[in-house]
Amino acid sequence: MLRQIPAVHRLLEAPGIPALRERVGHAVVKESAEEMLASLRDEIRATAAADGAATRDGRPLPDLSLEALARRLEEAVARRLAPRLRPVINATGVVLHTNLGRAPLSAAAIRAMVEVAGRYSNLEMDLATGERGSRHSLVDDLLRKLTGAEAAMVVNNNAAAVLLALSALAAGRQVIVSRGELVEIGGSFRIPEVMAQSGAGLVEVGTTNKTRAADYRRAVGPDTALFLKVHTSNYRIIGFTEEVPLTELVAMGRELGLPVMYDLGSGVLAGRFAAGLGDEPNVREAVAAGADLVTFSGDKLLGGPQAGIIAGRGDLVELCRRHPLARALRIDKLTLAALEATLKLYLDGALALREVPVLRMLATPPEELARRAEHLAAVLRRRLGGRARVTCQPGASRSGGGSLPGLDLPTTLVSVEPQGLSVDLLAGALRLGDPPVLARIAGDHLLLDPRTLLPGEDEAVAEAVVRAFDPQGHSARG
Ligand SMILES: *Cc1c(COP(=O)(O)O)cnc(C)c1O
Repeated sequence: MLRQIPAVHRLLEAPGIPALRERVGHAVVKESAEEMLASLRDEIRATAAADGAATRDGRPLPDLSLEALARRLEEAVARRLAPRLRPVINATGVVLHTNLGRAPLSAAAIRAMVEVAGRYSNLEMDLATGERGSRHSLVDDLLRKLTGAEAAMVVNNNAAAVLLALSALAAGRQVIVSRGELVEIGGSFRIPEVMAQSGAGLVEVGTTNKTRAADYRRAVGPDTALFLKVHTSNYRIIGFTEEVPLTELVAMGRELGLPVMYDLGSGVLAGRFAAGLGDEPNVREAVAAGADLVTFSGDKLLGGPQAGIIAGRGDLVELCRRHPLARALRIDKLTLAALEATLKLYLDGALALREVPVLRMLATPPEELARRAEHLAAVLRRRLGGRARVTCQPGASRSGGGSLPGLDLPTTLVSVEPQGLSVDLLAGALRLGDPPVLARIAGDHLLLDPRTLLPGEDEAVAEAVVRAFDPQGHSARG
């Protein structure tokens, strides 16, 4: 048996393989061939019976013909070259799922990225004068218009925006923050730690549940650089609580000559046109209320690419732009292209609501979700037969990603209760399918929420679930 295994150089000349080497490169194919033949040898040594005709437990041995091995090699190369970062279907109902890449982009944003990706662009060139330009000027006017702020700039993400703003405005001095707002977002972004990194000193005031204007005032000293307000993006303190409203903090800041910076986290851009976003601070309103600098994410409720936006007073934004960190945290051209296209949709609230996937998902009417769930359930019932109990039930979707905590968006869930298969095995098979599907698990039930399915994915989910029950593809169609 071992002698029948061809040498690597023969396999590399087998039908179809020279063309494959031409296409993907000799090195990858050779490495895959060596690996494949080595594992084949191990397999035969470990399992072949003494007479070499079959495995010890009677299964046939692998086909060792050159043709069969060439097909196996093609598959091995395809597996090796398959992207590690790949699209998945989000059936969890969590719209901004940080582990799943937060916001899927609008068609306009994707087009804009593709347009500039493979070509030269005027990233830092003022085409009118031929002089060096600034990448920030490309979205400057859009952001000013949409936020109402005097100036704006964009960096890599909102964590970078906060770090840069604190570094530029408060390094070596003190920043006053309420104890109720010392947030941690997604494990690695913690206000006290970002503050330390920026070189600013954190002065905590008030208590977890109550902070009053007098607390801020008492903490002000000669070294105070600014008041920082942080939106409690992923939690709410309820019960006996008190916080100082932005307008009051701004008034106190004006009186004492201190700027107020507001880290909005998610931040809703422009009008309150999307149902369900009412609770999240609105960027325009924060600027109008007098916040001297606001920071927010591009890929949370804005629904654009990963980015951090700093908007506010011209002189403060200028300090951020001139700070050395700005260069380290700068946004790249693909992100800028996607952000510009996303922001343009916001010039018309109705257009944004229709075209920005995050907004569209959040605003999908419950009746439409119920209809889609019923349809998905009917397809699954028909295709799975007795292998699962499939029902629809009322449930809640989440905004997620550090936005709108505690807000339940009413939806209809498809519940799949597998018979003779554990729900964990089913969920695992779905995750490992192609495309991978992420669902929720509740007890013995797998729950699928149509809210976060993009156009065309309802059908793909049905296919994936059927395949997960039946990896060999024996299920009846129809
Ligand atoms: C999400 C969030 C951040 C971090 O933003 P990224 O864009 O994820 O870097 C910072 N502050 C607040 C309040 C947030 O909600």
